[in-house]
Amino acid sequence: MASHIVGYPRMGPKRELKFALESFWDGKSSAEDLERVATDLRGSIWKQMSEAGIKYIPSNTFSYYDQVLDTTAMLGAVPPRYNWTGGEIGFSTYFSMARGNASVPAMEMTKWFDTNYHFIVPELGPDVKFSYASHKAVNEYKEAKLLGVDTVPVLIGPVTYLLLSKPAKGVEKTFPLLSLLDKILPIYKEVVAELKAAGASWIQFDEPTLVLDLESHQLEAFTKAYTELESSLSGLNVLVETYFADVPEATFKTLTSLKGVCGFGFDLVRGTKTLDLIKSGFPSGKYLFAGVVDGRNIWANDLSASLTTLQSLEGIVGKDKLVVSTSCSLLHTAVDLVNEPKLDKEIKSWLAFAAQKVLEVNALAKALSGQKDEAFFSANAQAQASRKSSPRVTNEAVQKAAAALKGSDHRRATNVSARLDAQQKKLNLPILPTTTIGSFPQTIELRRVRREYKANKISEEEYIKSIKEEISKVVKLQEELDIDVLVHGEPERNDMVEYFGEQLSGFAFTANGWVQSYGSRCVKPPIIYGDVSRPKPMTVFWSTAAQSMTKRPMKGMLTGPVTILNWSFVRNDQPRFETCYQIALAIKNEVEDLEKAGITVIQIDEAALREGLPLRKAEHAFYLDWAVHSFRITNVGVQDTTQIHTHMCYSNFNDIIHSIINMDADVITIENSRSDEKLLSVFREGVKYGAGIGPGVYDIHSPRIPSTEEIADRINKMLAVLETNILWVNPDCGLKTRKYPEVKPALENMVAAAKQLRTKL
Ligand code: GLN
Ligand code: ZN
Repeated sequence: MASHIVGYPRMGPKRELKFALESFWDGKSSAEDLERVATDLRGSIWKQMSEAGIKYIPSNTFSYYDQVLDTTAMLGAVPPRYNWTGGEIGFSTYFSMARGNASVPAMEMTKWFDTNYHFIVPELGPDVKFSYASHKAVNEYKEAKLLGVDTVPVLIGPVTYLLLSKPAKGVEKTFPLLSLLDKILPIYKEVVAELKAAGASWIQFDEPTLVLDLESHQLEAFTKAYTELESSLSGLNVLVETYFADVPEATFKTLTSLKGVCGFGFDLVRGTKTLDLIKSGFPSGKYLFAGVVDGRNIWANDLSASLTTLQSLEGIVGKDKLVVSTSCSLLHTAVDLVNEPKLDKEIKSWLAFAAQKVLEVNALAKALSGQKDEAFFSANAQAQASRKSSPRVTNEAVQKAAAALKGSDHRRATNVSARLDAQQKKLNLPILPTTTIGSFPQTIELRRVRREYKANKISEEEYIKSIKEEISKVVKLQEELDIDVLVHGEPERNDMVEYFGEQLSGFAFTANGWVQSYGSRCVKPPIIYGDVSRPKPMTVFWSTAAQSMTKRPMKGMLTGPVTILNWSFVRNDQPRFETCYQIALAIKNEVEDLEKAGITVIQIDEAALREGLPLRKAEHAFYLDWAVHSFRITNVGVQDTTQIHTHMCYSNFNDIIHSIINMDADVITIENSRSDEKLLSVFREGVKYGAGIGPGVYDIHSPRIPSTEEIADRINKMLAVLETNILWVNPDCGLKTRKYPEVKPALENMVAAAKQLRTKL
């Protein structure tokens, strides 16, 4: 019985690649230094999988930046602005595409399906001259072979590559990207030929777009591509790998009838219908790569349940054709539990990071072939049992309260325009009120104070004093700038989710549970392992301290339940929405405590609401329903005079605008400036918006200081489509990553623009 791993994290157990990359980019180390770190990482990963007993070990899943960019390099599809002159693509061109250089900006980056990993979007047009310009896949195969490991080289499949591309600048938006298939297949053939010559016996094409809702011509492209490749592929075993959901039924039929392909990989964790599809007909004589070990989460596999699933599959595809695998690349999980010595022992026994998942895959394969490692299985069964019965997981009061929510839809009693009137009486704001999104620049000094307090190096007293000083500076600055609704600047927060997670029960934190987000950037999501509750107020102390420093309204600042959920590793023993409702109740308590403490404006950030959208359209409505409901739960209990804000930093709202309206916030601040005012087009097309709205007037991702005229111009564009009395003036997002010399003049210009327009209205 065989075992297979779809892909493996490339950053290293202690983020070795991150540090090597950043040092190279800073000019502090050489290309050879970087290559050495990369070679060592690849070698140790292959060795680790091979020693574990994995049969099909992937290669070419390493990347210096991103696997889609690697494919762009392989195809020589470098946009002309990088002045690449041909030959093998080196670091300079590669990293210019990824990060930009002094004279040219980077290529666009976007989310890889519904993960938090970002890829570099290929830019293609009718004139691209493709050429075989990066031999990385072949080189990695050979490198592993020299180490004695015969790997399965992994390529992003040609159709997925094209479907994830965008038309190059100046090319019609309607340019049919799939028409380039004929031009890229010859390069794929060259790569395949070289891999064959190097001795490869398997090749894996990742085609995750197969899980999306495809149009028929897109589906036909798969048949066309793999039929075209068939002759070059002969003599090689071809695996087409899908992941992140089940494939739609029609796709399943097309996929499994591809002739040149001898193995199909499916996600059996998120693909809830995959099992039925396989049962309804799997081609005889072909391999099934059964992704039973979850690559998207950190939970230990329920080995005995997986074994049962695998045994039933064995009956369908045959004993020698079943391969135990991961649900997707392990890129999306943390690397190795070994580096978590401080994690609570019981919780640790419930977890499996990438290194542990490799062992699980192997143990399952062994068990199927009659060599069950009893000790391994019984330890796993024990951990599963402890997780099910542990009192730290279950909090009956929370379960009950969350269950009681389902019947009602939780709306504030008064409609939004009446509420806005009531709030205005109390707040007495000018038209075009100004505000910011929450955070102010985080200085090195500030980070030091937080770090030292955490490490018990400074007393609580000293810590509070420093943070209060910082808040007071931020308050004074905003008063000087004459901003209308103030923020405290969030100096006590290191991260908008971690800050709340640390104070809620049911959350655990790792020391090294990093997951690549893009390039060298990694995130360390908290782990939600149990019922969530709020033992005590989380923000009231700081918000009231800040409010006491000014007569102007001070916004209370919270992270919303959907964002906390979407940016954490979420428990898999209950539906996501149940966990979300629990978080919503905890945030509701906080909202009510803030109100009681005299805070009249409360912002509940839902930065990640949109990114939780399921991959398939049929599932959107259900998600949006519980997500928006969760948000409403947090503030259903407040008085009309308490103004609820929310914030989102994503520009692609047009398809979910009705859900945003349905959140029923009093004011929403929303990213707008990077998107060519795409958001405003919704209102131009007649969508009615009655609540307050602050489309960002400048981009905080750039150090550039926007002029007063430019901001006034933006506001005027909004005034053309929105009622004057609902419009707010604010930046796109928080100012945490900016520096004061940028923030001060930018906000000065923002306030000046608002004031200028007020006199004209
Ligand atoms: N209140 C947060 C801040 O200003 C919001 C951050 C975000 O939307 N990503 O930092
Ligand atoms: Zn934001």
